This record gives sequence, C-alpha cells and structure tokens, in this order.
Amino acid sequence: MKGKKKLLAEFLEKSRLFNIARKIPANTLTIINYHRIYANKLDTEFDAGVFGSSVNEFEQQMAFLQKHVNVLSEQDIIGLVRTGKSLSGRNAFVTFDDGYRDNYQLAVPILKKYHIPALFFIPTKNIEESTLGWWDIISYFINHANEKNILLNEKFVPLQTPENKENAKQELLIYMKTARHEESKKLLTELSARCGVKFPSRAVQREELMSWEQIKEIANTDGLSIGSHTVSHRVLSTIENHEELRELQDSRIFLQQKLSCEINSIAYPVGGYHAFSERTKRNAHQAGYTLGFSFNTGTNYNTITDSFDIKRISPEKNLSIYKVNVILPRLFTNNNPFAGRHGERSEGG
Ligand SMILES: [Zn+2]
Repeated sequence: MKGKKKLLAEFLEKSRLFNIARKIPANTLTIINYHRIYANKLDTEFDAGVFGSSVNEFEQQMAFLQKHVNVLSEQDIIGLVRTGKSLSGRNAFVTFDDGYRDNYQLAVPILKKYHIPALFFIPTKNIEESTLGWWDIISYFINHANEKNILLNEKFVPLQTPENKENAKQELLIYMKTARHEESKKLLTELSARCGVKFPSRAVQREELMSWEQIKEIANTDGLSIGSHTVSHRVLSTIENHEELRELQDSRIFLQQKLSCEINSIAYPVGGYHAFSERTKRNAHQAGYTLGFSFNTGTNYNTITDSFDIKRISPEKNLSIYKVNVILPRLFTNNNPFAGRHGERSEGG
C-alpha cells in the first residue's frame, strides 16, 4: 500500500495533474502532527518510531506549506470555531506532541525562518519530573536487553535479531495503549527485571525533553503557542471519569500558572478513537478548553464540525505523499479508527 501511494504521489507531482489539482477549489484544513525531528542520522536508544522527519525534510515541508497553502495559527482556529465560519481554500496547521527537546532545538528555528505558526502539546508531569513516556522506556529496555529471550504474555519472545526486538516492542506498545495505568506501571518494572536493564537516569531522560525555560520561550514567541497533553499522558479511555477530569483540569491550571498565559487547547494522548470518548470531550469543555485535538483521524473538510475532535494526521516522510495529503487529502484518506501514535509505526511519524 505504502509503495503504491508513493508511486501515485510521485506520478501526480511530476505530471501536470498535480498542478491542475492545485487549482481545483477545496475547503480543507490539514493538521500535521509531529513528535520528534532528528538532526542528520536517526540514532536513538529510545523509541525510533516517534521520529517523523529529519531537519532537512522538515525544512522542505515547511517551505512547501508556506508557498502553497494558508498556514493557520491556534488563534485562527479558535476564531473559526467561535464564529462558525466555513474553511476557505487549502489550510494547514502544524502541531507537536510530547515536549521533546528537538522541537525547540531543531524545529523552532525553521518555523521562525518560514513564519509558520505552531502549537506544542506538553504533558506537564513528564517535563516536571523529567520522565519519558512508556514507549521510550520500552524501547530503551529492549534495545539494551542482555537476555536472548524474555517472557511476555506467558510466552518466550526472542530478542536475538533487530527484527525480533522490533516485534517485541510492537507487542508491548499495543499492550500499553489499552492496559490500565496501574498495570502498565507494573509492566515497566517487570520488563526492566526481565531485560536485565535498569531504568534510564533522570539526567538521561531530561536530555530528551524540553526544559520549562525552553517551553516558556516558545509560549512567548509570536505565532507559537502551548497546549496541554494532560498531566501524565495516560490513555484517557483507560481511566475513571474523576481521574480524566483531573488530568485535563490540573494540566491546564499548571501550564497557565507556569507560563502566565491562557491555555486553550488539549491534545488527547495517543489520540485515536479508542483513546478518548464523548466523556473526554465533555470533560475537556468543562476543564475550560476551547479546542480538543485527536490524532491520525484525517483531514477537516468545509468546517470544523466538532471543536473537541479536531482531526490531525502524521507527517509523511516522502515529500510527494506529504504534498498530496495537503493538496488532495481525499486521495489518501487517513481515517483509521485504531490509529494513534506510540505503536502505529507503519503509519510513520
Ligand atoms: Zn503523546
């Protein structure tokens, strides 16, 4: 499927069809959600699956957006929601989840260079306590594992080849997305023992995440803004109502106090339709948010129909597919109900 998409996208781009398509009227808003950007070569002891583009690819993507579509800001989207206005033309919006340090070091300079607004969603406890998400810790354990096999779900899983290790990570990521919070914490401790690898130090984890000073600087930069990604990045559909409300309220209040600005937007962790519910949307409204963003849920057509399920897609590494997703989004629909980051590596970014 991926190969066919690439061929079709490259064909459209090389032929005049793509130029003609650009002239066809469309009222769309494509929101591209990034997690991590890498410098030259992708080299990490944590989750390689959350890296979307290299910094050079990111620059090409931003140059394309600036030249060919209307690039919106968080305030523009709030305006659209408040007025109920329809979308006009081809629009794009750039967001980042999880608060990784490369967002500040690599992405922000390019966003400034091309005057591209962006919204960064921060899980407050991860920054405050310098702790990476479960997807990074799982990858760290598996990457450093000394054992040839580990016991997972009552069966022995081999860890001898890179492919074995990738399969083990996938299995664990899928489990963690649906496990209750208490079980998922227990699993990480067990996995540490089974792999014979200690948890990475706070100092090592801190290196991967933005500091509050860096987040403040982003909040104070024209066009750039901060949103909440909950307190602890728990999958909201796996927790009780009162816990969900706390995750939404406490993160907003904390960010507002820390950054001395209004926090209007929330991105639901993982973000696919299995990861949040109608209850989440009601709670987000009650917690004072104006906008709620889902993930890997597609493109917004004509108008923002639900301000607490604003759809986002992953960035495609291939520039031709990236362009098609923005110019002709209906061609490759990306509405996968089980999608969401952290375990959906095949979808990229
Ligand atoms: Zn996230």
